[in-house]
Amino acid sequence: MTDNAFSNPLEALFSERSAHIKQSAVRDVFDISVQPGLVSFASGSPNLKALPVEELGEAARRVVVDHSAEALNYGVGTGMDQLRKQITEVMALEGAENVDWETVLVTTGSQFAQDIAAKVFCDEGDVILCEDPTYVGALNAFEVYRVEVVPVATDEHGIIPEALTETIRSLKAAGKRVKMLYTIPSFNNPSGISLAEERRQPVVDACRAENILVLEDNPYGLLKFDGKPFRPLVADNPDDVIYLGSFSKILAPGVRVGWAVIPKALFRRFYLAAEAVVLTPSTVTQLLVSEYLTSIDWRGAISESRALYKERCEAMLAALEREFGDVEGVSWTVPEGGFFVWVTLPEGIDTYPLMREGIDAGVVFIPGVAFSPNDEPNHHLRLAFSNVTPEQIDEGFRRLKPVLMRAIEG
Ligand code: PMP
Repeated sequence: MTDNAFSNPLEALFSERSAHIKQSAVRDVFDISVQPGLVSFASGSPNLKALPVEELGEAARRVVVDHSAEALNYGVGTGMDQLRKQITEVMALEGAENVDWETVLVTTGSQFAQDIAAKVFCDEGDVILCEDPTYVGALNAFEVYRVEVVPVATDEHGIIPEALTETIRSLKAAGKRVKMLYTIPSFNNPSGISLAEERRQPVVDACRAENILVLEDNPYGLLKFDGKPFRPLVADNPDDVIYLGSFSKILAPGVRVGWAVIPKALFRRFYLAAEAVVLTPSTVTQLLVSEYLTSIDWRGAISESRALYKERCEAMLAALEREFGDVEGVSWTVPEGGFFVWVTLPEGIDTYPLMREGIDAGVVFIPGVAFSPNDEPNHHLRLAFSNVTPEQIDEGFRRLKPVLMRAIEG
C-alpha cells in the first residue's frame, strides 16, 4: 500500500495484526438504538432499572471513603482474595460447589478473558471451534490473533458431541492445530439455545480425548427462568475447562468485573498474561462488587431478575406467535433463560439490509451476519428481550411486522 492511501502517514505504522481488529456491528447498532422513541431489541444489556442504586451508592461511598488505602491503590494481579472467595459462592449457586478459590482469577469482564485465552493458547493459524451462531465479541477477540474459527454442528440441543469429534479429527487430519472449543452452553448469545444436560459431559469428553481445551463462557448461567441452573461444564471437569463468569448480566456491565476459573496447571501463564495487560483489575470496582455480595441480598436480586426476564421472554414469544405464527418459513428458538430469541426467516432473505429498514420504522434488531463465524449474510436475526417492557415489545412488533413481511412476500 502506498503512503498516500493514509490520511496520516503514521497510519502506515499500524501492525498487520491490528488490521484484523473488527468494528463490531453490534456496537454500531448500540449507538443508534439509544435514539429516543426507538424500540430496541438490539442491546444485550441487563435491566439496570431494577438495581438497588441507593444501596450501591452507599456501598461505593464505603469503598472509597472507608477503604481508601486499598480501594485507591494497585491491587494484585489475581484479584482480591476476598472477592475470589465470594465468587466461589456465586459458582455454588450455579451448581459448581467445589470451586477452589485459588483457581479463580478476577478479570476485567469476560471479554478481556477471551482475549487472554486466545493470546496464551493460540498462534496464527490455530483453530478455535465454536457454535454457529456465536458471540460476536469472542469472534472479534479471537480474530486479532489470526486464528481460524471453525463452527461445529449443532441442533436445538446445542453441540452434537459425535459431530464435534468428527470435526476435530478431520481438522487434525488436514494438519490443523485445534486448540480449543469456545462454547456458550447456557442461553447462547445470540441463539438462546442451551446445551442439553445429557450432552454436557460428552462434549467435554470429546475435547479431552483429543487434548483440546474447553472455554466455557457463561455470563447468563444464573438467569435460567425456572428450576435449578444448568450445571456448568467446569463443575465436574476442573482440569479440562476454563470457565468465564461475569457480573455484567447479574449486576451491572459498568463495573467491568468478571472472573475465570482456570485449571491449576494453566493458571500461572493465564494470570501473568492478564497482569501484563491490566496489572491488576480495578480495585475500586472489585471492592464494590465484594460489598454488593456482602451487604445486598444478591441471591434475591438474581431471582427477581429471572422472573422479570421470564415475563419479557414470554411477551416476546407471544408477540412472535401472534404476528408470525402462521407465516410459512418463520421460526424462532424458545430459550430457557438469558436475554435472546433467535429468529429464522425463509431461506434466501438477507437480514442485514432489513436492519436499516427496521430503524426507519422505529425498531432495531441485530442481523444474523454479526454472529456468523464465517461472516456469512444469512436469514436470521437476534431479538433481545432483556431491556424492553411487554408494552414496548408489542409496539416493537407492530413496527417490525411490516418490515419483515415485505421481505418475506418479496
Ligand atoms: N460473553 C458473552 C456470551 C456475552 O454475551 C457477553 C456480553 N454481551 C460477554 C461475554 C462480555 O461480558 P463482559 O461484560 O463480562 O465482558
